[in-house]
Amino acid sequence: MVREILQKEHKVLHEKAKEIPVSSIRGDDVQSLISDMFETLLDTEKGVALAAPQIGEPVRMFVVSPNIFGEDEKADLVFINPELVNASKESELIDEGCLSVNGKYGLVHRASKVMVTAYDKEGNKFSRGASGLLAQIFQHEIGHLNGELYVDIATEVHDVPTQKEE
Ligand SMILES: [Zn+2]
Repeated sequence: MVREILQKEHKVLHEKAKEIPVSSIRGDDVQSLISDMFETLLDTEKGVALAAPQIGEPVRMFVVSPNIFGEDEKADLVFINPELVNASKESELIDEGCLSVNGKYGLVHRASKVMVTAYDKEGNKFSRGASGLLAQIFQHEIGHLNGELYVDIATEVHDVPTQKEE
C-alpha cells in the first residue's frame, strides 16, 4: 500500500526511532511494512531511499530503491536496525534532497566511505560497505532514524529550480 510521506513539520521525523526485535522481522507486521515502504518509495518520482519514520512508523528500518543499481544487482535492499560501524575521515560536500523536505536541496558534509551492519528482511545480519551515492544514502537514512533531517546539518539550503532537471 502506498503511504503518505510525512513532511518535516511532523513530530515523528524529529524523534529517535526504536529498534525492531529481531524475532519479529519475519512476522506479518514487519513484512507488510517493508512492502509498504517499497511501494511508497517506488511511487515517487525521484526517491532513492525511504526510512520508516517518513511514513509515520517510528522504527529503525530503511529501504533503498533497486533503481539506483545496475542491471546486475536489482535486489531489494532492506536495512533493519542499521548501524554505522565505520566512516572515512575523508568527506565530501554533497547537494542533498529529501522526500520529507519538498522543494529544497542543501549542501551537507558526508563521509566518502562507510560500513554499515544491519539485518535483512529474513532476519540475517549482514554488513555492507559503500562509497558514492550509496554511502550518502546510508548516512542520510540513519540520520532519519536518529530524528535528524539533512536540513538540520546542511551548510546551505536552497530551493529546487522549478524547471525539471532531468
Ligand atoms: Zn530523507
